[in-house]
Amino acid sequence: MTQHFINGRHVAGRTGETMAVLAPATGEEFTRIACGTAEDIDDAVKAAQAAYEGAWGKLTAAERGRLIAKLAIKVQDHFDELARIEAEDTGKPMAQARADIEATARYFEFYGGAADKVHGHVIPFMNGYSVSVVHEPHGVTGHILPWNYPAQMFGRSLTASLAMGNAVVLKPAEEACQTALRLAVLASEVGFPDGAINIVTGRGHEAGAALSAHPGIGFMSFTGSPEVGKMVQKACAENLIGCTLELGGKSPQIVFDDADFDAAVPIVCKAIVQNTGQTCSAGSRVLVQKNAYDAFVGAVARQFSTLRAGTPEMDLDCGPVINARQQGRVQSFIDQAREQGIPVLAEGQIAQGVPNGGFYVTPTLFGPVPRGNRLEQEEVFGPVLSAFPFEDESDAIRLANSTAYGLVAGIWTGNGGRQQRVAKSVRAGQVFINGYGAGGGIELPFGGTGKSGHGREKGFMALEEFAVTKTIVHKHG
Ligand code: NAD
Repeated sequence: MTQHFINGRHVAGRTGETMAVLAPATGEEFTRIACGTAEDIDDAVKAAQAAYEGAWGKLTAAERGRLIAKLAIKVQDHFDELARIEAEDTGKPMAQARADIEATARYFEFYGGAADKVHGHVIPFMNGYSVSVVHEPHGVTGHILPWNYPAQMFGRSLTASLAMGNAVVLKPAEEACQTALRLAVLASEVGFPDGAINIVTGRGHEAGAALSAHPGIGFMSFTGSPEVGKMVQKACAENLIGCTLELGGKSPQIVFDDADFDAAVPIVCKAIVQNTGQTCSAGSRVLVQKNAYDAFVGAVARQFSTLRAGTPEMDLDCGPVINARQQGRVQSFIDQAREQGIPVLAEGQIAQGVPNGGFYVTPTLFGPVPRGNRLEQEEVFGPVLSAFPFEDESDAIRLANSTAYGLVAGIWTGNGGRQQRVAKSVRAGQVFINGYGAGGGIELPFGGTGKSGHGREKGFMALEEFAVTKTIVHKHG
């Protein structure tokens, strides 16, 4: 059983109500979390405000950075424990859970080092004036996070804000709170003042809605579905504050006939089975030039048919999906595509011996998928890859940009001019050429356009999101 973490202490919450958390690998209850209310959120925001006005806010940038860097070391000291909790909560294979904890520590290293490097600048102005532009914290920032990469999201969303000097309140996803709660305790142990990091667990429409609407929040960071993202943005509008929204995608891998197939095939497969397809940047559409379609998609199919889903301990290509609802949702995409007669080019397997109650889905490759189909337009958030043939470069760009999303794109070609033309033309916040994904890519600005959301996380740009720019004009004669 876990509790909220408010003002440096575990608390049961005002109502004492709890809810079950099921292990995706088994479908069985393995813990309960506290169900936060608007009052719990209010307690957390007040604790954060007090920290911002007190011990946390008084630290220099270098002191903040040092604490965050200490947390990176602390994470390494607790590496196995954190990886195990993350795998239990999400069902992901142990190797992927370990890679996630490694990336989480990298966020703490990066933002620990970045905290004292947020420089302002000076603007030459009229004679007799000095003008400086400085970046200041918002005060208290709110963070609502999903269940797919709970530890990494903590590292990504909260740490940039903390480095900038804000105090934070987090509402993690109800399915996966354990690593965030543990990281908050580890932060206390390395010396973060009480109230700098506060966590209220519970339901989205209760604790999440209360957090996004709280007048004490200066800026919101949301990652999740477009539907909830809209609600969060509306709540922010009521308080006239800004927000970043990271809402997923339908990201294309564009493969031209001159691509290095041996390099591309394993990465195209990995980009959709990584985290069982529950990745906002999953490469869920593979677009292949018509004359190379059969050869390339055939090679992907051969590798796809070797994929296996199992428990974290089996440590296979993928795990279960997060819950029964998500399992039903992913399966409905697969069933509908089959009913529509879209060819199944390959299926992976659910490993023998997985617990009956676990939320497993068979990795499935469809193609050719008709343009305009649901598999082209909607985010499945599961291990389902859709293949599409295209004619030429302009058709490839049209197809890549055919969805309302715009998060990530991959371009596979040896032609340097084409690499640049296509990279400039695809609608995406990140473009990879002859590769896909960057092992967390902590240093690289990340975010979307259109239905994928707005604002940038990761890298130095995230610090700007969590800051208010102030122009100081000094008339001194
Ligand atoms: P969701 O958007 O419902 O939940 C994300 C977070 O928002 C959770 O912490 C949740 O408790 C909270 N939330 C829910 N309702 C809220 C409300 N009214 N106000 C404030 N916060 C609220 O996402 P989900 O149900 O976990 O997943 C549904 C779909 O979202 C997935 O199938 C996938 O397409 C997408 N998704 C995207 C990402 C991503 O990284 N972009 C991550 C998870 C899910």
